[in-house]
Amino acid sequence: MTTIAVIPGDGIGPEVTAPALDVLDALGLDARTDVLGHVNADTYLRTGRALSETDLDRIRPCRATLLGAVGDPRLGDTAYVRSILTTLRLELDLYVNYRPVKLWHDRLSPLREPSRRAVDCVIVRENTEGLYSGVGGSTRTGTDHEIAMDVDLSTHQGVARVLDFAFSVARTSVCLVDKANAVRNGGQLWQRCWRAAQDRHPHVATSHLYVDAAAMRLATDPTAFDVIVTNNSYGDILSDLTAALAGGIGVAASANLNPTTGQGLFEPVHGSAPDIAGAGTANPLAAILSVALLAEHLGRADQAERVRGAVAAAVARGHVTPDLGGSLGTKEAGAAVLAELARA
Ligand code: ATP
Ligand code: MG
Repeated sequence: MTTIAVIPGDGIGPEVTAPALDVLDALGLDARTDVLGHVNADTYLRTGRALSETDLDRIRPCRATLLGAVGDPRLGDTAYVRSILTTLRLELDLYVNYRPVKLWHDRLSPLREPSRRAVDCVIVRENTEGLYSGVGGSTRTGTDHEIAMDVDLSTHQGVARVLDFAFSVARTSVCLVDKANAVRNGGQLWQRCWRAAQDRHPHVATSHLYVDAAAMRLATDPTAFDVIVTNNSYGDILSDLTAALAGGIGVAASANLNPTTGQGLFEPVHGSAPDIAGAGTANPLAAILSVALLAEHLGRADQAERVRGAVAAAVARGHVTPDLGGSLGTKEAGAAVLAELARA
């Protein structure tokens, strides 16, 4: 039996994790859950640490971890969130961030042109390097002469492995997105690795776009894309753009994967949303669709499809939260998906 670690986290994290766990339950996978309910901002505020060695010892043996969201306005920007997300990413070396985007219903598209609405693509984002590597520093900090630097780090091994993953999940094509014309050194390393990856996967169609052009194309004709592979920061930004094309952040799911060890962490793309936490209106679909990715990861693509079918049906009936134009609360929207699952 597989053990799935669960970190509900903060804000709307626990609110959306509850219906996601109900869906997981309904799938009848050969799995049990180990819920780490204390990995959150309260623990961090009390002890200065949210994720202990003991917690990591519980998570490490799990093939899958389900995370709600972490973040807290009392803790400001980065140190706390990094202490959980970055620790897990680096500890488990989850070098791929896999973000599928699909339009569940025409009504959710912001695009005017009907023939271009049906986005169904995947963003494969490098997850451990790039501008978010944490390498850098500042000097004369806080003065009018401050100089700050964040290093955009790329390694041959890091780039090659994420490119290989992108090719491995392509249905029709892979598009490399970079800014090699302006970011020269890393850009050329990515380009060299890209040519080598193309040689290793000669049967997959490929294309290349600079990130500015890719953003424009995505916002006008997202149907042109299958798999987009890119670095950490461009992937972050483009995946919010693609999420918006499919109904917004309330339906965007993601997987952090290490295809070599077979470990994965599954989470909604959204954060803890302090502005709506406690209101009971958070959309649970991103968390539920993260469960679909988790089921797929555990070899149950059939169950993943069942979940997606149930989500599509609930959306089609308008049984959704206010962000998607409905009037249901989190619990009711979760129950609507469960009801569709029972029908399927
Ligand atoms: P992070 O720094 O973790 O990316 P963020 O500050 O970008 O967090 P989010 O928590 O992702 O913020 O929220 C961004 C906006 O989207 C907020 O207005 C929030 O209320 C809304 N939002 C996020 N998740 C959901 C959801 N599941 N349902 C409805 N609205 C959501
Ligand atoms: Mg954000």
